[in-house]
Amino acid sequence: MKSLWTALTASALALTACASGQGSLTESGVPTVSGPTVVAAFYPLAYAAGRIGGDRINVIGLTPPGGEPHDLELSAAQVAQIASADLVLYVKGYQPAVDEAVAQQAADHSLDVSADLALLPAASAADDSATDPHVWLNPLNMAAIGSAVASRLSTVDPANTKAFTANDQSLTASMSTLNDTYVAGLANCRSTQMVVSHEAFAYLGAAYGLRQVGISGLSPDAEPSPSRIKDVAEIVAREGISTIYYETLVDPKVARTLADETGAVTAVLDPIEGLMADSTQTYETIMAQNLATLRAGQGCA
Ligand SMILES: [Zn+2]
Repeated sequence: MKSLWTALTASALALTACASGQGSLTESGVPTVSGPTVVAAFYPLAYAAGRIGGDRINVIGLTPPGGEPHDLELSAAQVAQIASADLVLYVKGYQPAVDEAVAQQAADHSLDVSADLALLPAASAADDSATDPHVWLNPLNMAAIGSAVASRLSTVDPANTKAFTANDQSLTASMSTLNDTYVAGLANCRSTQMVVSHEAFAYLGAAYGLRQVGISGLSPDAEPSPSRIKDVAEIVAREGISTIYYETLVDPKVARTLADETGAVTAVLDPIEGLMADSTQTYETIMAQNLATLRAGQGCA
C-alpha cells in the first residue's frame, strides 16, 4: 500500500497522453472529448487504445515516457484515475502496482488484454506457473488485443460501436501486414539465437523461428550474475553470434561489456515497453526498425 500513497503530497498530475497522437488528453489531465476515458498501463496498450478509439476516447498512459514500466509505482492521483476511468487496460502479472490497484479500484471496469492470448511460460521465473507478459511483441497478439479493446469499448460506449469495429479491422490489417513482413524478413537467417538484455522477446521468437538468450532474465533491472554473463559469453562464442542487443530504457553497460569480451557488436532492439521522452515513434515504426535490426544482426538473407 505504501507505494500507492507516498506520492500524495507531490500530487503532480503526471499524465501522459497517448504518445501516438491518437486518443486525446490535455496537459492538465482534463479530458478533451466527451467520450470514455481509457487508462492504459503502458505504451503498447495506449497505442492499441488510440488505434481503436481514435478521437472518440481520452487515453491516459500510466507509465511516463522514458519510464521503465516493469517496476512502475503509482501516485495517489494515478490510483484515483484507475478508480474513475471507464476502462483500464493492463497485462496481469506485468506491473505489480497496477495489478494491485486494478484489483482494489477497477475490478468491474478493467481488461487484462492477455486473458485470451496463448501465453508462454516465464522461462527464468522461480514460480513455475508464471507466464511471460511481453505479449505485444507478436503483431498478431496486438491485433487480438485491439479486437478485445474494440469489443469492450463497444460495451462502454455503444453509440460508437461502428467506428470501433472499423478501427479494429484497420488495426488487424496493419498487424497482419507487419506479420507478413516479419515472416518474410526472418525466413532465412544465419543465426537463430538472439542475445538480448532482458527476456522480452519470447513471443517474437516463437512467431518467427528465433530463440532468445536473455542476459538479465524477465525483468530489465535484474542484475545478471557473473556466472550468467559467463554462460552467455560462451553461447556467443560457440554460436558465432555477431550482435548483442540492448534496449532504449535500460543502461546498456552489461551488453556493452559482453560485446567487448566476445568481439560482438551491440545494436538497439526495442522491447517497446515504453517510448523515450519526446519520441515521435509508434509501435509500428519501432517494430519495423526492430525487423531491420534483427535482419542485420542475425544475418538474414
Ligand atoms: Zn520486460
